[in-house]
Amino acid sequence: MSEKHDQKEWDVIIIGGGIAGLTASIYLAKAGRRVVVLDKGASLGGRAMSNEIADSRVNMGGHALYKSALPILREVGVEPVGGTPKTSGSFVFKQADGRSKALPLGQLLLGSFLKWHEKTQLLRFYAKLRKIDTAALQKVSLQTYLESELGSPRVRSAVLALVRVATYCDAPHLLSAGAVVRQLAQAQVMYVDGGWQSLVDRLAEQARQAGVSFLTRSPVRTISGIAPRMTVALKDGTRLSARHVISTAGPKETLAMLDPALTPAESALYERLTPVRAACLDLVATGMPQSKTRFVLGADEPWYYSNHSAASALSDHPGREVIHVMKYLPVSEETDPAQDERELEGFLDLIQPGWRGHVVQRRFLPRMLVSHAVVEAASGGLSGRPGPAVAGRPGLFVAGDWVGDSGMLLNASLASAREAARCIIAGKDTVKEGMHRGA
Ligand SMILES: Cc1cc2nc3c(=O)[nH]c(=O)nc-3n(C[C@H](O)[C@H](O)[C@H](O)COP(=O)(O)OP(=O)(O)OC[C@H]3O[C@@H](n4cnc5c(N)ncnc54)[C@H](O)[C@@H]3O)c2cc1C
Repeated sequence: MSEKHDQKEWDVIIIGGGIAGLTASIYLAKAGRRVVVLDKGASLGGRAMSNEIADSRVNMGGHALYKSALPILREVGVEPVGGTPKTSGSFVFKQADGRSKALPLGQLLLGSFLKWHEKTQLLRFYAKLRKIDTAALQKVSLQTYLESELGSPRVRSAVLALVRVATYCDAPHLLSAGAVVRQLAQAQVMYVDGGWQSLVDRLAEQARQAGVSFLTRSPVRTISGIAPRMTVALKDGTRLSARHVISTAGPKETLAMLDPALTPAESALYERLTPVRAACLDLVATGMPQSKTRFVLGADEPWYYSNHSAASALSDHPGREVIHVMKYLPVSEETDPAQDERELEGFLDLIQPGWRGHVVQRRFLPRMLVSHAVVEAASGGLSGRPGPAVAGRPGLFVAGDWVGDSGMLLNASLASAREAARCIIAGKDTVKEGMHRGA
């Protein structure tokens, strides 16, 4: 993957060859800019890489592509292929006797677990979702909003389970209600054939065709200067020059590279962000005991189970299935990874008794970074996130799932990558009104 380049002068240096970096590189190269993408890893893809496990392509934890991401992917020449998972599934609730029980969604609405008024609460909430004024709710916490809208704690638990799937975040007291409602309203997803690696491979192919150069195994130590004379120094001492730099590393990693550092007032915007993490148990299995159980969410516990092979082609081996099991981790405390793994095993014992005998290979990723930032009500919701232009450092831009006022997760990475590229193409070297937020 690593390519040697004698050229040390570039129009744009992009730090990070994940989906944000690759996307920005394609826009820029197609606009005629000389672009190099640097990544510290041995290969491209960042958190969107998939691994080969037991002849199957396994994402690092369950990844679902929001269909609202398709327009930008298509603009850069990538048409994802895959399937839409069925919306039917089950919720695990704690019973009055303290034991947990899985209830299919249909039974939740038709059976006797929820009272009549609880069923109508749930149905009314979903019926009005697309009509809610999300702008007015950006600064309201999800917890406050749900408590005012849904009187029943059991209905709130079911809705919060759906919020966790849509945001990967188990912090209703922090989350912006407006951002969450917007995310829930565009809930249609796709499981991608060949895993998200196939998105990475196609983006890399488009970038190469557009003339982008790549340097992998190239960790960046410092970013200095301002447009049009910026310097990026690698850990091995190599120095590269460019008119502009885009960093797609995380907020704190980006701050640590800046030489000189931003002022405390400028860096506060990046330092206050709260990361979102998940414990991921990835399985390649054959013929799970409950073959019809494909999608289960914990209502009272932050658990996720999904058979991704039910909707996408992931294995060369007939009969092998890729199953993702996850725990959405709390944002304000560190949990014990061994305990988290045992908890997920207990969840599997409940919904797939005897599952161990069907596992071909398993992998546990204890603290995966899902997103660099919760979209927080206290910071103003989506419009409170940092913009792509870095205040105090003309010529430096950032992109990623923590940047810009559009979308969450990958959608935010894509939108901010496009925005950063557009600013550079439009010659907006310095921060102007509206190009960064919250400072
Ligand atoms: C378990 C899990 C489940 C997820 N599920 C979903 C989902 O269902 N839907 C969804 O939309 N999103 C999901 N996501 C989020 C999605 O994967 C990310 O938002 C997206 O891949 C981020 O892409 P990125 O390019 O912004 O960042 P990254 O993929 O993190 O890329 C940044 C790159 O920068 C490189 N880098 C960092 N520092 C340096 C340095 N100093 N020098 C050189 N290179 C550097 C890194 O090596 C990395 O390759 C999930 C993530 C995880 C972990």
